[in-house]
Amino acid sequence: MSDKFDLPHESQLAPQKLDLSTKIQFKCHKGVSCFNACCKRADVTLTPYDVIRMKDHCGMSSGDFLKAHTVPFQMDQQGMPGIKMRTDDEGACLFVTDEGCSIYEDRPTACRYYPLGHMAIKEKDAAEDAAAYFMISEEHCKGHEEEQVMTIAEFRKDQFIVDYDGYNRDWLDIQLKKRSSGAAVGNLPEATLQLFFMASYDMERFRRFVMSDQFRATYDMKDSTYDILEKEDVALMQFGVRFMKQAFFGERTIEEMSNAWEERVENRQEVWDMRREAEIARKQAQDDEMYKSDD
Ligand code: SF4
Ligand code: SF4
Repeated sequence: MSDKFDLPHESQLAPQKLDLSTKIQFKCHKGVSCFNACCKRADVTLTPYDVIRMKDHCGMSSGDFLKAHTVPFQMDQQGMPGIKMRTDDEGACLFVTDEGCSIYEDRPTACRYYPLGHMAIKEKDAAEDAAAYFMISEEHCKGHEEEQVMTIAEFRKDQFIVDYDGYNRDWLDIQLKKRSSGAAVGNLPEATLQLFFMASYDMERFRRFVMSDQFRATYDMKDSTYDILEKEDVALMQFGVRFMKQAFFGERTIEEMSNAWEERVENRQEVWDMRREAEIARKQAQDDEMYKSDD
């Protein structure tokens, strides 16, 4: 589609908190005058499950998909790596066509939710986070003028959001937990941030890591578990979340081999001993050199 809509740069968020029973008036369909407008100014953050659905739709490996269709960004001040959909120079999603979204059945969570925003809110004294919703009212979006009315619960069902939320929840939970842990977790080292990126988005690379001899020697898991992780991306993604909880928050989510810690300490001790011996030898050589020149 060559027409370019003149879209406002800033979204106007009505900050009213909505819940599942709230009724919304909205319908998006091919007949709306703004058809495709939102996809021509796309700012879409992706979740790990989104990546699996889209890379499978495109028949690509996760590595190739990440390179061709995503751009990295930092999700917080500590540099937690996130990814967004790549767009063309004018900001249009690479999947938009005159007929609409070319990957419609596998479109990402954020596209399904639009024009709703959502967030997890923890009320004081509540045991668990609760989902809250808000309406994104952008001038270019004429779907709000359509007559269809449904509750947010019905809208989520209609857009198959319920399934997506189920797969996204634990991964989003890591970020909420990291934010609320604050100083206790602190700034994560670069290697941990890279691990987060790999376990979140790059399933083939994460699979090689999990299938490695070193991983098998460290974690106590059944062969049947490895068989599943070798074949199923979604299972591997869910395992990745457990693994990150262990790496970030010290939660014992995956059993380690009984001697893994001792072996790691022993290996490290060997390195320390070698370094110390090398340092002693270097000093000895220096002293010998000094005495030689005194002679
Ligand atoms: S993935 Fe599809 S729905 Fe989402 S922005 Fe791109 S074209 Fe639009
Ligand atoms: S109605 Fe809104 S969501 Fe649908 S195409 Fe138009 S701008 Fe996009």
